[in-house]
Amino acid sequence: MGAKVVRVNTNRKSKSKKQQAHCILVRLKRLYPDATCSLTYSTPVQLLVATILSAQCTDERVNKVTPLLFRQFPDAESLGNAPIEELETLVRSTGFYRNKAKNIKAATQMIVRDFDGKVPRTMEQLLRLPGVARKTANVVMAHAFGINAGVTVDTHVNRLSQRLGLTKHEDAVRIERDLMKLLPQADWENWSIRLIYHGRAVCKARNPACEQCQLADLCPTAPKISPQNANIDVISSAVR
Ligand code: SF4
Repeated sequence: MGAKVVRVNTNRKSKSKKQQAHCILVRLKRLYPDATCSLTYSTPVQLLVATILSAQCTDERVNKVTPLLFRQFPDAESLGNAPIEELETLVRSTGFYRNKAKNIKAATQMIVRDFDGKVPRTMEQLLRLPGVARKTANVVMAHAFGINAGVTVDTHVNRLSQRLGLTKHEDAVRIERDLMKLLPQADWENWSIRLIYHGRAVCKARNPACEQCQLADLCPTAPKISPQNANIDVISSAVR
């Protein structure tokens, strides 16, 4: 017998999704003020290649592979002309290496042939490149050219946007559409990059650390995973 704490989180209930997204964004900017793309690159072509390699792989692993790759094949022309076996060997440890090497070669060949050796600057043109879907195109547009064409939805942004209750979808394209409606365009990449940091540091796939999470009072998943994390606004109710 004893008093049971009934947790009612007024924050979660009263905010519209847009307000909630705004509050989360403010918090994320405070938490990760210097967040930036963690891939190592020095040209748009290299960023494109590094982003292709980052599919199903950590940025850390990609950054171990790209120094030698870019030393041997620094630009679109040399990458497009590289022997496929050599490319495969160089990118092998990033996984799915045959496909990645094939896409890198074909994409850089197209860049040389159709775009004068320069990475195109529109979403439509980027999506024509082999191996480039919206996630890669968004990263390149944002970090190589400073253009927020969409919201980058990687595995972290996908998971956290669902946990934060900002989308009910699991499909990246639909999640991106939901997020684009909730966030100001100027912050689309700010959102993604910081959510990625938070996903790596706190809201991990298997064991989200809700008890230490600075977004817990804004997150509808927190009380489900860690009930003591909900805001305590009402204390009542006796249990027997
Ligand atoms: S409260 Fe938990 S589920 Fe929500 S964002 Fe934080 S770690 Fe993730």
